[in-house]
Amino acid sequence: MILLDGKATSKAIKEEIAAEVTARKEKGLKTPHLAAVLIGDDGASQTYVSSKVKACEKIGFTSTLIRKPANTSEEELLSIVDELNKDESIDGFIVQLPLPKHIDEQKVLLAIDPRKDVDGFHPENVGRMALGLPCYLPATPYGIMQLLERYNVPTEGKNCVVIGRSHIVGSPMSILLSQNTNPGNCTVTLTHSRTKDLESIVRNADILVVALGKAEFVKGEMVKEGAVVIDVGITRVPDASTERGYRIAGDVDFDSVSPKCSFITPVPGGVGPMTIASLLKNTLQAAGDKTN
Ligand code: NAD
Repeated sequence: MILLDGKATSKAIKEEIAAEVTARKEKGLKTPHLAAVLIGDDGASQTYVSSKVKACEKIGFTSTLIRKPANTSEEELLSIVDELNKDESIDGFIVQLPLPKHIDEQKVLLAIDPRKDVDGFHPENVGRMALGLPCYLPATPYGIMQLLERYNVPTEGKNCVVIGRSHIVGSPMSILLSQNTNPGNCTVTLTHSRTKDLESIVRNADILVVALGKAEFVKGEMVKEGAVVIDVGITRVPDASTERGYRIAGDVDFDSVSPKCSFITPVPGGVGPMTIASLLKNTLQAAGDKTN
């Protein structure tokens, strides 16, 4: 069994980007600038946004964090998005999801200039991704594709099963792995909460991508011998023995599944760190050949 080490791989990617930032500066090219908008005080969102901002600082990007209270109106957020669209110093920006219930998420995502949409959530980028055209790939699927590529995981002709059909993970993963690319060229089955007899479908998977958000849902007896398992899940499970009172669990029961795998991602330290590295890659792409 080979561990797909997202922590080490994301570190390598960040070092590559940092070297590129230095080279850009020498050539008089613009320092990439990422802005993040955080509405409200959700604990997990604050953690995610602050790690994105910290990662920017570490690799030499410029970053801007815009924090607004939970009662920010939709109109106010749309005007922030409009300003960020127009601000030429900013190459890419993200609006951290989820948004408070009174704000229409789709309306906000649609308002983002697709050229600055480094989360890859705008319908224009989603459409371009589906057609295999240049675009910003959503960060988590992009990170998974990078892991598969860098570990030379064979994918061509393999049966791939994706559990979960979210717009940010499951659905784009099913599209990317079915494309005529490397990694890719899989025969993909996309499963979800209404799928019948999930276990027998999962047992047929050479590659299994699990993104449903249920701690340790996939057990060893469900997985084929030699399978590649990508665990996207991040769930806080109460655990009195830890200082924080919880532990982070994936969607895969690592202890029973890993002995059967050819490759597997751990949680934490697998897909999670790759997501941030991919956002940075998208921001670097957004800066393109702009000069200062
Ligand atoms: P989501 O919560 O939007 O949707 C869950 C999906 O799972 C749905 O499509 C649903 O149909 C499916 N599902 C639910 N129960 C099922 C069942 N019993 N059998 C089959 N399918 C079932 O999903 P999401 O936003 O993609 O998040 C999934 C998990 O991944 C969460 O734990 C989330 O925290 C985590 N996540 C991690 C990262 C990362 O960077 N590692 C990024 C995004 C999401």
